Amino acid sequence: MQLADAIIGATAVVYGLPILTRNDKHRIVKDIQIRKFRMVSRVRIHITSFEPAYIKTHRTGRLKKKIAVANAILSECRLCPRNCGVNRISGELGVCRTGKHAVVSSYDPHFGEEDPLVGRHGSGAVFFTNCNLLCIFCQNYDISHMGEGHKIVSEELARIFLSLQSMKCPNINLVTPTHLVPQILSALEIAIDKGLHVPLVYNSSGYDSCETLKILEGIIDIYMPDFKFWNPDVAKALCNAPDYPKVAREALKQMHGQVGDLLINKEGIAERGLLVRHLLLPDGLSGTRDVMRFLADNISEKSYVNIMAQYRPCGLAYNVPPLNRTLTDDEYRDAVRAAREEGITRLDQRKRVFLLRKG
Ligand code: SF4
Repeated sequence: MQLADAIIGATAVVYGLPILTRNDKHRIVKDIQIRKFRMVSRVRIHITSFEPAYIKTHRTGRLKKKIAVANAILSECRLCPRNCGVNRISGELGVCRTGKHAVVSSYDPHFGEEDPLVGRHGSGAVFFTNCNLLCIFCQNYDISHMGEGHKIVSEELARIFLSLQSMKCPNINLVTPTHLVPQILSALEIAIDKGLHVPLVYNSSGYDSCETLKILEGIIDIYMPDFKFWNPDVAKALCNAPDYPKVAREALKQMHGQVGDLLINKEGIAERGLLVRHLLLPDGLSGTRDVMRFLADNISEKSYVNIMAQYRPCGLAYNVPPLNRTLTDDEYRDAVRAAREEGITRLDQRKRVFLLRKG
């Protein structure tokens, strides 16, 4: 140490630098330590200052009430716009073919989602089996139509949430959750008591009833609905839901009213807000321009929108032209242009880069 001090002193003399006393060095080291501490504190304060909405809802006792309300609906199920009226508690099945318990196909850190959901560790995706919309071209046909998955109770679902959080996923991404709101709420209560603290992403088809969404107020931080088609005839032909466009419009208004535009923190991770997905179908079947005009005029010009170009024929679509082909680059470019012309300013970047490279 003394030798090192001597060398530093000699170097200072050679280069004409001021020679530091022991006190000077002490002060400088202390200064550096204080600055480092401040930097670390700033980062920590930023990360820990976010609190998912469900924590407060639980603290104030409102989560229990919401669980009771949601569970009561199961005995004459009208959770979604299909309004089946079946008693799922006693084993009757409606359009979604799901009874009392949730069925899960898989769960994992998922890197295929939008960048603000993925971060460094992947979005904590839980793929629920079955669906209330059942599009004939579904990109997850085995899960949504064929029922691939395992029945689980609330404690197991809570364990899944916590396990994804322990893998450092920045959120729990509930994929196709509409028919399972009561089961998700029950699992959430257990998971919060065991330390869950990352936001929930409600990743739905957009075929959600406003009554059920109101139960989710104060629970969901990030809504990520699809807006699939504008034309009721297309919706009738592709998923037997001619009311889809009307339902989706109301659902998106309700979702945006609860959480607002998408907020992304300094680390690039979404914390709260609405993210809309729009899967392009061949021959303009999705009605992109109308959907984008609606988003800009009735939701927000700052709506975060992912125009998805990855459509491929799946399920029954192989036999239904024009659904039996993938998208052309021109179709994608026209859709992006339409979105811009209608006033959408926040388009998801990753897919655009991918497509431009492809072209
Ligand atoms: S959640 Fe299922 S059973 Fe209930 S109304 Fe919707 S489709 Fe029917």
